[in-house]
Amino acid sequence: MVVVLLGPPGVGKGTQGAVLAETFGWDRIITGDLLRAARREGSRLGRQAQAYMDRGDLVPDELIVAMVRERLEGLDAGIGVLFDGFPRNVAQGEALEAVLPEVDRQVDGVLLFTAPDDVLVKRGSGRRNCPDCGRLYNVYFDPPRTEGECDDCGEALVHRSDDEPETVRHRLDVYREQTEPLVRYYRESGAVVLEIDGDQSIDDVTQAARRALEDAFDLEGDAA
Ligand code: AMP
Repeated sequence: MVVVLLGPPGVGKGTQGAVLAETFGWDRIITGDLLRAARREGSRLGRQAQAYMDRGDLVPDELIVAMVRERLEGLDAGIGVLFDGFPRNVAQGEALEAVLPEVDRQVDGVLLFTAPDDVLVKRGSGRRNCPDCGRLYNVYFDPPRTEGECDDCGEALVHRSDDEPETVRHRLDVYREQTEPLVRYYRESGAVVLEIDGDQSIDDVTQAARRALEDAFDLEGDAA
């Protein structure tokens, strides 16, 4: 199984992707996380990506596609893959379509999460994450027990520089212009596109996404 998560920044792809991957026993390829790791390591890719990421613009396709190809080649062939944050435009969608057959795969389904812009800006700008264990919080919707501290490991939470309200709005514009055309691209290519209302509680979104996947692909997730 190869499933692409689509939806604007802040709609909950990261949160939902983590639960769904766990439920179905899939791997995840999260291009934003791979790029942030490259930045932390100070690698060539990290240095090349930095300015684009700080502005909320897309990193050039050739860098991203090479990074994704490398990750895909390292994955166990029998395990499903969930793409989070990739593809981000039609050119990347076409590149993925060219790369997947090399590893005997194809895009089977697309989960499209939707929510109104005002909800997305509030979610995006309220987002905090733990640099140690990666747990995500939101100061408005899902705050930690102690302000600014991770419930699990006590680390000081950080606010991504591209989660400032103005950058969040810019990232939304980039999504509408460059990423949203992928919805049509996938509909026309015959992939199953499952639309999920992302403006509900985290649990309700998870249930809706899980049920949609199980029904469309005859899957059975882990009950836990
Ligand atoms: P994300 O965590 O998915 O919101 O990604 C954070 C930032 O990383 C984006 O605003 C882009 O600058 C960059 N990025 C992540 N994935 C991609 C991609 N597939 N193509 C281009 N840039 C990306």
